[in-house]
Parts: sequence; C-alpha cells; structure tokens
Amino acid sequence: MYASRMSNLPPYLFARIDAMKAEQRKKGVDLIDLGVGDPDLATPQHIVDALCTAAKDPNNHHYPDYAGMPAYRAAVAGWYKKRFGVRLDSDKEVLALMGSKDGIAHIAEAFVNPGDYVLAPSPGYPVYRTGTLFAEGNVHDMPLTRENKFLPDLSAVPKKVAKAAKILYINYPNNPTGAIAPASFYKEVVDYAADNDIIVVSDNAYSEIAYDGYRAPSFLETKGAMDVGIEMHSLSKTYNMTGWRVGMAVGNAEIIAGLGRVKTNVDSGVFDAVQHAAITALSGSQDCVQDACNIYQERRNVLCEGLKDLGFDVPVPKATFYVWVPAKDCMAFTGRLLTEAGIVSTPGVGFGAGGDGYVRFAITRPVARIQEAIERMRKMKL
Ligand SMILES: *Cc1c(COP(=O)(O)O)cnc(C)c1O
Repeated sequence: MYASRMSNLPPYLFARIDAMKAEQRKKGVDLIDLGVGDPDLATPQHIVDALCTAAKDPNNHHYPDYAGMPAYRAAVAGWYKKRFGVRLDSDKEVLALMGSKDGIAHIAEAFVNPGDYVLAPSPGYPVYRTGTLFAEGNVHDMPLTRENKFLPDLSAVPKKVAKAAKILYINYPNNPTGAIAPASFYKEVVDYAADNDIIVVSDNAYSEIAYDGYRAPSFLETKGAMDVGIEMHSLSKTYNMTGWRVGMAVGNAEIIAGLGRVKTNVDSGVFDAVQHAAITALSGSQDCVQDACNIYQERRNVLCEGLKDLGFDVPVPKATFYVWVPAKDCMAFTGRLLTEAGIVSTPGVGFGAGGDGYVRFAITRPVARIQEAIERMRKMKL
C-alpha cells in the first residue's frame, strides 16, 4: 500500500516511547518527562497580546504572502542585524517558514537529485535525514563524538561523497549534544563548501538559549558564508513558541529562492496574525529571553551536579536545553529510567547511530522535578 520511499524512513522511535509512557501513566506512575525538547514555559504575554489583537483584524484572515509579510521579513532582517551584525536584504534573503522544520524538511526537494548525497551529523535532528530520503537522496553520516568535541570531521568524508554532496547540515548550539562551535569551525565549513560546491544549511534554532555569558554566533557572520549557505532559525525555542509554527530561512538569495519555490507548491504561508506576533517578539524587549535562560541555567546546574554526584561523566552544556549523558546501553538505560524511576529520557540512537552510548535529558521541567528525578535515580542500582 505504501510507497517504497516510506520503507526507507527510520522506525519512529518516539512513537514507541510515547506508547511506553502511556503504559506507565495508565499504571498511575507520576512521570517526570525530560524527553521532549519543548519548553514548559509560557509564551511571553506581550507576544500573546499581539496575536490576540492581530487575530481580531479581518485584514489578517486571508491567505498570507508566500514569502512572509514584508514587515515580518524586515523584522527578521532587523533582528539579524542587531543580534549578529548580519545584513540581509529582506526582499531576497529572508523567507518566512512554518517553523524551521518546514524549511529543513523541504530544502532537499529543491537541490537534491536522486542519488545525490547530503552530509548530516549523527547524532542529529532527525529531519535532516528524512527530508533527504523524501528527495531520494543518500545521507552520509558525520559522527559527532566527545573526542572531536561533537564537531564533524570534514576531512573524514570520502572525496567521492564530498563531490556528490549537495547539502551539508550543521547545527550549533547542537541538539542533542548541547555542544557549541568555535568561529574556526565555521570558517572551515565555508572553505569546504566552496571547494566542493556544497550548500551549507546552518540550523541555529538554539542561538538564544545560552549560559554563563556565552553568546552563540550566526553562521552568516563568517566571511564567505552568504555565498555558500543559508541559516534556518525559529521563534520556537527563543520565545517558547513551539506550537505557533513560525521561523525563517535567511542567507544566499538563490538558495532561499529555491526553497521558496518548493514551498509555494506545498503550503500557503504563515497566518498573518502569527507573523504580527512574531514581529512583536523580534522587535520588542529581549528581557524575556534572558529570563528563560536564567531559569534553564539553574535547572542545568541542578541536573549536571546531580548526575555527576551519581557518577556520570557529563559534559556541562553552554547552550541549548539538553544534557547529553554517557550511558552504555542507551535503549536499556532509558527503559530502566522509565520503568524503575518514572523518568522519561530519549535514547541517543533516536538521533542516529552516532548517538549510541548516550541518553538525552531535556531540562524542560521545573527545578523541583529535576531534583526529584535525581533522587529517584539515586535509589536505582546504576
Ligand atoms: C526544535 C528544533 C527545530 C525546529 O523547530 P521549529 O519548531 O520547527 O522551528 C529545528 N532544529 C533543531 C535542532 C531543533 O531542535
């Protein structure tokens, strides 16, 4: 019944975890869900208010502009200028997305022919792979290991693969490892992409979720980046707006145009009222972002210190709301955490073979719940 490309898709691990969660809940277990990368914090009030006002205006009830309202694209360009010092032509170098997943899922359609390669980090956000498979391309996994600081070793990509590659995905601050990238890495990526004629797609969903004074850069700050790539960004994580479905692709005009052309055939844009709220988010005070980071930072400290005390050798993330914990048999360990302690976590292999040996905890629950999780783990025979 299903098309053959469906059988190429990896088994949907998260559906299985959901089923296991439901089973525990039915038994009455008080679950501590550190599985999902979805903020528990509310969208800031001024953004919600902007949506309410805009939703009442009948002018906003029609099909939106495919590329995004000019005012939204200008707000994105303004935010990139202010935050990163990156200049964008909002007409040609900015495209509205229904969340960055929209852009990531569809970009391969525009640039990948059947049999072409896409270079993707493993572990990595699963949509890099599935978007490629829908376009009937091949995925070449770039392992992210603790030894290489969770940065891909581009020199390890076989020459033949590099020559047949169309897209290179990078994602820093990184989901699921929490790693960050130095400026020298971005420079290396630009040179590599120029040498091999590869489009760079930088997924920067977590640039604003950072700790200890760290400020994540944009890939587009790198000299030459605008010639070889684009960046996918989103309001989801920055402003606790995962359910709103609004993001942006920015960068090289030709690449943006290719993605935009696919999208005009797939969707009809982001609800104008949501774009008005997004303008408010990007143009208004950013204090709400710092407030959220302060909350995550305390949770990170509690979780990392607790895990260290239990004997885990955890890298302490400078950004993202994930903690990447070494655990030998990650499937068995997540299973035990769930059944013996009522803790939901994500096995590293859910993010690709390179994630084996790790479990991801999302710090999207209050400090008291994280403390409770540590206490429950203390009672397990680890
Ligand atoms: C959450 C996430 C996204 C997508 O978020 P949207 O809600 O679709 O904007 C993209 N990449 C990574 C790495 C993410 O964690």
